[in-house]
Amino acid sequence: MTYVIAEPCVDVKDRSCIEQCPVDCIYEGGRALYINPDECIECGACEPACPMDAVFYDADLPPELESAQQSNLDFFRELLPGRDAPLGNPGGSRRVGPLTVDTPLVSSLPAKNS
Ligand code: SF4
Ligand code: SF4
Repeated sequence: MTYVIAEPCVDVKDRSCIEQCPVDCIYEGGRALYINPDECIECGACEPACPMDAVFYDADLPPELESAQQSNLDFFRELLPGRDAPLGNPGGSRRVGPLTVDTPLVSSLPAKNS
């Protein structure tokens, strides 16, 4: 079980959640942020910080956003475009900085704010 960032974050990315995370396990992609399920300690601090209501405990994801759980996992375990290896568990987003890539799910979503 873990916390998950879902579709309402896409193309918003105001990063309010990052500042609340005590273990720095929220990573920045090109269009959305992603929670590393192996590094998250399930403290819940990020959830109320999100102005978009994009953060959910995985068991509480509404049906229409359930695919976000696999997408957050994919960001760390799958090979993302232009990278040599999966991101894995770097031990903190500050160690890798913002990335310019996203999971297939997020990449497939139509652009907002355009
Ligand atoms: S639940 Fe806590 S540890 Fe997990 S991502 Fe949110 S702030 Fe970080
Ligand atoms: S606070 Fe919400 S909208 Fe802002 S970056 Fe985090 S998950 Fe995305």
